[in-house]
Amino acid sequence: MPSPRQRARITWLKGADFPCAPFPAPQTRPRRLVLLGAPGIGKGTQAELLARKFGSCQLSTGDVFRMAKQAPEAEQTPAIREALEYMKAGKLVPDTTVVALVEERTPCLRCSAGFLLDGFPRTVFQAEELDRILRQEHLALDAVLSYDLSEAKILDRLSGRRVCSKCKITYHVKDHPPKVDGVCDRCGGSLYQREDDRPETVRVRMETYRHSTEPLIDHYQKKGLLLRIECCDTPQETFACSLAALGVEA
Ligand code: AMP
Repeated sequence: MPSPRQRARITWLKGADFPCAPFPAPQTRPRRLVLLGAPGIGKGTQAELLARKFGSCQLSTGDVFRMAKQAPEAEQTPAIREALEYMKAGKLVPDTTVVALVEERTPCLRCSAGFLLDGFPRTVFQAEELDRILRQEHLALDAVLSYDLSEAKILDRLSGRRVCSKCKITYHVKDHPPKVDGVCDRCGGSLYQREDDRPETVRVRMETYRHSTEPLIDHYQKKGLLLRIECCDTPQETFACSLAALGVEA
């Protein structure tokens, strides 16, 4: 059973055959943003906070794959099954699979509430394909927020991250522990460590980020869209910096 937050972006999570309900309210100034940052930087949390502030949906390609993983195997297409293997190894899913998946969800990019892309694009090819899709739709990005944090802090965040198996909110074993070990404070679901947060997978993901995704910083800098944000100790502080960079009042 999807949570209310998931129902609002069901088209993104499951594809264009599944209409969103409730449909996001149209915004007078819809924001179309991309978030960049190494794994574990807290990008997902910033995406959630920004989405709430701007009334848009957090469009995470990682969430689409995690949703597909929960589906019975018979319902998974060969491309999705292959994608899940890459994900398990901490590697990037092939560009063509990811671009096809995003293109199928073009209604989300067209949404009158705007959008917040989290985890896409992740390669220069994907960024160029996103530019193409947006051009076709006569849409443009407002900004690309790129988050920075030291590698030591990233490794600490990822190794301690735990996710609720039911409502998907995240905890950290040291910095944000649940009241009862292994149990979600909000819904009582059991907490687990994402397969791709295990140390051996994290190393691959960091290397992949440096090699494939960091060149996007240059790509968006040249387009005049890049806003660089230094991550702070708390998500709220980083959120305040994100709003300041966007020139929006808190
Ligand atoms: P995330 O939750 O964004 O860290 O994504 C989890 C995993 O899904 C990644 O480690 C990749 O295996 C896969 N993935 C998500 N988005 C993309 C993308 N844009 N390109 C390639 N692989 C992706």
